[in-house]
Amino acid sequence: MADLTLYHGLLALIPGRVRAGEPMKKHTSWRIGGPADIFVEPGNRRELQLVVSFARDKGIPLTVIGAGSNLLVSDNGIRGIVVKIGNGMARVFTVGNEITVEAGAKLAVVASTARDAGLGGFEFSTGIPGTVGGAVAMNAGANGSAVSALVKNVLILNFDGNFVGKSKEDMSFSYRRSILHSEPAIIVEATFTCYPRDKKLIREEMADYLKKRKASQPLCYPNAGSVFKNPPGDSAGRLIEATGLKGVRVGNAQISTLHANFIINLGSATAKDVLALIEHVREVVNSRFGVDLQPEIKFTGYD
Ligand SMILES: Cc1cc2nc3c(=O)[nH]c(=O)nc-3n(C[C@H](O)[C@H](O)[C@H](O)COP(=O)(O)OP(=O)(O)OC[C@H]3O[C@@H](n4cnc5c(N)ncnc54)[C@H](O)[C@@H]3O)c2cc1C
Repeated sequence: MADLTLYHGLLALIPGRVRAGEPMKKHTSWRIGGPADIFVEPGNRRELQLVVSFARDKGIPLTVIGAGSNLLVSDNGIRGIVVKIGNGMARVFTVGNEITVEAGAKLAVVASTARDAGLGGFEFSTGIPGTVGGAVAMNAGANGSAVSALVKNVLILNFDGNFVGKSKEDMSFSYRRSILHSEPAIIVEATFTCYPRDKKLIREEMADYLKKRKASQPLCYPNAGSVFKNPPGDSAGRLIEATGLKGVRVGNAQISTLHANFIINLGSATAKDVLALIEHVREVVNSRFGVDLQPEIKFTGYD
């Protein structure tokens, strides 16, 4: 239940951008998740800083999300303030071979901006949904590359309310990980270094990746992409498929019959359904292959 005093306090600071009891299923690609006590989508970085200072002063937990394409949000929702970095912070600038992007911009917009400017580098990301903030935090990757290959530097806002510049090295990138996993903060902006490339070649490579994705991923059902990380030298999808679990259901959550590392929402799946399926997959894969699959998705609202 939202604390209405806090809600009105934040609303006074940022009129029109704060909601109480917002259903998180409206903000996740799985279409799953209970209510956020207080939900705010800042219109710019100054408003974001006001939210962070407010949360710090009142001692309220802060949860940061982008497009929610990698999140399993609890059926009980999220306590405290959820801050969504979205359209209010989505400017994209290109200077020479460098692209500087606010964290709320869609990764797809950055990839098409690079393509149209004749800049190579983002081709690999074709079809990865979500924002630049989410992509940098998760070190999103595909087709043998990842966002970290292009990052030059990142501007973050820490939970004390200060803006801090980070170099690529400071970000401690590894497979689907960055420093944000151990030191929570908010990505505000990132600068990427690309390289000149023929637009036609970029377009062809992107079209090829998109075609492969459409053929191999269950894109007509709500999902959150790959649920598990690939274990070293293997593929989570291959292991799950080999156990014969494709098509298995818990409630309205189902292991995709198209791609075994995707769990789809058949209509009204709950986070509880998805969690039960995740646990089942881990147990079966572990007992069959001795591999302890690690989730790639982030669990939110379970503290
Ligand atoms: C159909 C489909 C296909 C996918 N394919 C891929 C793929 O090929 N490769 C891949 O890597 N991923 C893939 N994903 C997963 C997802 O798209 C990526 O992880 C994406 O980068 C997440 O971005 P987001 O904005 O949705 O982040 P969210 O899901 O909102 O958040 C993910 C994490 O990032 C953090 N975060 C988000 N924004 C910020 C910010 N501004 N500052 C600090 N932290 C932030 C959140 O706190 C959370 O921990 C896929 C998902 C779907 C649905």
